[in-house]
Amino acid sequence: MTDYLKGLNEAQYEAVTTLQGPLMVLAGAGSGKTRVLTMRIAHLITNLVDPFHILALTFTNKAAKEMKERIAKVVGESEARSLWMGTFHSVFARILRSEAHYLGFPSNFTIYDSQDSLNVIKKVIKELNIDSDLYKPKKVQARISSYKNNLITVKAYFNNPELIEADERTNMKHIGLIYQKYVEACYKNGAMDFDDLLLKTNELLTRFPEVLAKYQDRFRYILVDEYQDTNHSQYLIVKALASKFENICVVGDDAQSIYSFRGANIYNILNFKKDYPDAKTVSLEQNYRSTQNIVNAANVVISKNVQQFKKNVFSDNEEGEKIKVYRALSDADEANFVAGNIWELHHSQQRKFSDFSILYRTNSQTRAFEDALRKKNIPYRVYGGLSFYQRKEVKDLIGYLRLLVNENDSEALFRVINYPARGIGETTQNKLIVFADSQNISVSQVLDNLGFYAPQLGLNNGVLTKLSDFWSMIKAFQVLLKTENVYNIAMEVAKRSGLIKFLKDDQTPEGISRVENVQELLNSMQGFIEEQQQLEDGNPSLSNFLENIALSADTQKDKEDDGTDKVSLMTIHLSKGLEFPIVHLVGLEENLFPSFMSSSTREELEEERRLFYVALTRAEKQVYFTYAVSRFQWGKITDAEPSRFLSEVDTQFIEFINPAIESRFVNHSGLKSNIFDDAPSEPRFFKKQDPKKKLSRAENPEPQSLPKNLKPISTAKIINPSGQSSEDIEVG
Ligand code: ATP
Ligand code: MG
Repeated sequence: MTDYLKGLNEAQYEAVTTLQGPLMVLAGAGSGKTRVLTMRIAHLITNLVDPFHILALTFTNKAAKEMKERIAKVVGESEARSLWMGTFHSVFARILRSEAHYLGFPSNFTIYDSQDSLNVIKKVIKELNIDSDLYKPKKVQARISSYKNNLITVKAYFNNPELIEADERTNMKHIGLIYQKYVEACYKNGAMDFDDLLLKTNELLTRFPEVLAKYQDRFRYILVDEYQDTNHSQYLIVKALASKFENICVVGDDAQSIYSFRGANIYNILNFKKDYPDAKTVSLEQNYRSTQNIVNAANVVISKNVQQFKKNVFSDNEEGEKIKVYRALSDADEANFVAGNIWELHHSQQRKFSDFSILYRTNSQTRAFEDALRKKNIPYRVYGGLSFYQRKEVKDLIGYLRLLVNENDSEALFRVINYPARGIGETTQNKLIVFADSQNISVSQVLDNLGFYAPQLGLNNGVLTKLSDFWSMIKAFQVLLKTENVYNIAMEVAKRSGLIKFLKDDQTPEGISRVENVQELLNSMQGFIEEQQQLEDGNPSLSNFLENIALSADTQKDKEDDGTDKVSLMTIHLSKGLEFPIVHLVGLEENLFPSFMSSSTREELEEERRLFYVALTRAEKQVYFTYAVSRFQWGKITDAEPSRFLSEVDTQFIEFINPAIESRFVNHSGLKSNIFDDAPSEPRFFKKQDPKKKLSRAENPEPQSLPKNLKPISTAKIINPSGQSSEDIEVG
């Protein structure tokens, strides 16, 4: 047997060596799904399938990179290079670039990240004179995104009276119009947003059979990781591409479906059997990642979900330590405990910092942990959040570069036209926009023919000269595209546009850090050039650079991800698929986790519970749960109540660190009870129901009451410095 097959168990072996026909691997966390997928690709190549014919879709770029490296170890670098492997968005952006002309888009179309698209939506709302208090841009954006992910185009929307009525009922009757104007603006700008990358791919494959045939023939073997989190649009793309050869392998875990808010559809797993009645299904039961204690605890929690496929997951690893629970007095106390614990284990167990992760429900929880880690000089890395490429100074320079590649990108144009200030104010900009609209041409066309249009623009000579100078500068930069590499172009732009000088004039620490960020962006271009030179089909062009950063912007690791020894901080969503020896799952409080926004229906709560399951199953050896009894949130200190999920982990799997709490719940026979059972003697701890919460625990019955033979024996006093109760909290 070939070496790479030796380490597989029977079920894994079967999945890896079944090369033809549809195959679904449905299995719990840590059971080797990703490993199976990786080895299966290696096996395909070993069995003389040309890597050119293999397409593998992963959830993050990082996962794709790691898988590729592992495959290269088995089949060699050069074979692994021609594999198509990446996220849905990156793979289909690449296809759309080659085929853009079919859809009337330029091949150098700009990719808008969610911030760009939000800006366009805001402008549209403003232009239509619609009240942005009623039509909150983020909400509108989410609605448009959900239409796109369900393949509801503007035309389909207006042909669907039910949708229109539904929007009217929720006082959002202008949504259709905003949607239409938004799509028009993107088209005019030569831009696609993230959802377009899927929507337009679907359009491409449905409207142009020759294109479909081409890619069906190319991708004879298709593999998808994290299949439970594909949305409808992704599902259709995969289905269309696979329909000729039907060599499709999907792996997933319904218990880890955590993106339904972004349209992920758990039923894609169910549909698989319907779409391919002959599909083979393999289930993997052994978890290789975690200790028995962690696997058993996770099983107990997830079994509380009504909506699930029953699975048997077990671990043969050591039983392991119990999950430790720390009850903090405040968010700062919580962060100090975690930092202290990491420091202590780093020394006592000779653990590397990279063995640790801190997982939280929302990005805003990061700051306290960063402060605490910094105080102890513990190196850390924050994943997600405001990414490097979304910082203003970085986006400003990128704005120039985007404009060079795509003149029609008016988002980019107006970002830089007066930055640094060059006397082209808002009035002038508005005149340009209005005039271009009236002539039905783009602003760049107006600027191209400024002399011709000058009499109609109503601008004075001084302003006209400034516009003309600006546009000549852009044109001069564009000439560089033909001869210079990305780095040189960006350097020229940064210097000659006045950007660097402008930033350097600010000598405050923030100003200095902004200059450093621009420098870092330039460095990353050097890295990009080298990386592309090593690839067989590498493409070091500016437009490829821009595509890479646009696609990594929303989920990317920070620029500091240089493989050095650091603690990882991230949201649970980002941790999917990853593993760490030691996990700190923090902020386990009602309204935080489960989130106050996601606890009103059973479906929402079940998704939060899956999220909890994902977090817990990232751990290999040890887990720490923490929660605070008061927390600084929304500008106030508020009382917090322990998360219901804590009470769902059976007490046999957990151990309490704070003695005061532990003793409270030891009864006379020495048995510990569930500390989160209702304890009426402690009013602050178990406060009145939050009126904003539509579904209380009573309505969502879980084991609640204190066993009869058990009484709380001591109560820790909880001080709430502000004296405010949760009823005072104004949310968002
Ligand atoms: P998740 O659901 O979290 O994505 P997964 O099912 O994809 O998990 P993997 O990440 O592939 O699981 O595997 C989990 C861990 O178990 C990895 O460290 C992997 O190397 C290891 N592993 C998987 N199969 C085996 C095996 N047969 N023998 C030893 N280790 C294994
Ligand atoms: Mg996996």
